[in-house]
Amino acid sequence: MAQKMDVRCEVTVREFIRAWRRAFKKCNPRFKIRGYKLKTNSLRYQCFNELSACVNCGIKGSHVNIELAMDTGQTRPHANMYAYNECGHPILLTKDHIVPKSEGGSDLMSNLITMCSKCNQLKSSNKISKALMRKINKIKERSRKCSR
Ligand SMILES: [Zn+2]
Repeated sequence: MAQKMDVRCEVTVREFIRAWRRAFKKCNPRFKIRGYKLKTNSLRYQCFNELSACVNCGIKGSHVNIELAMDTGQTRPHANMYAYNECGHPILLTKDHIVPKSEGGSDLMSNLITMCSKCNQLKSSNKISKALMRKINKIKERSRKCSR
């Protein structure tokens, strides 16, 4: 369900990924975006670094909001990536388990990929197609090369 979010600031995907990469390379546990401190080791941010678009439909992340979930009493801001659909509505991009946790899938980066919330909902009960799996394997292969 859509949560009520208190948006503190909006940055471009580029600005966000750059700041995250600098901290990740230096092994800094936190990085700063416009004065907000965020956790570097978030798997979600690692997914966004690997692919800032939905692996399934290809919708591209346009901006990152630094926000607080209002109804959870959360006090620590975190970053959410959004894309705009053809109607101009923001669509949340998030990390998705390739092999679902319910089927023994791990929380390692090798089992995580960026997907939009729409595709994620459609996928939930269905298996990933062979074509999509090939696409995912290519992305994983590329990021393995980059991290060497
Ligand atoms: Zn999608």
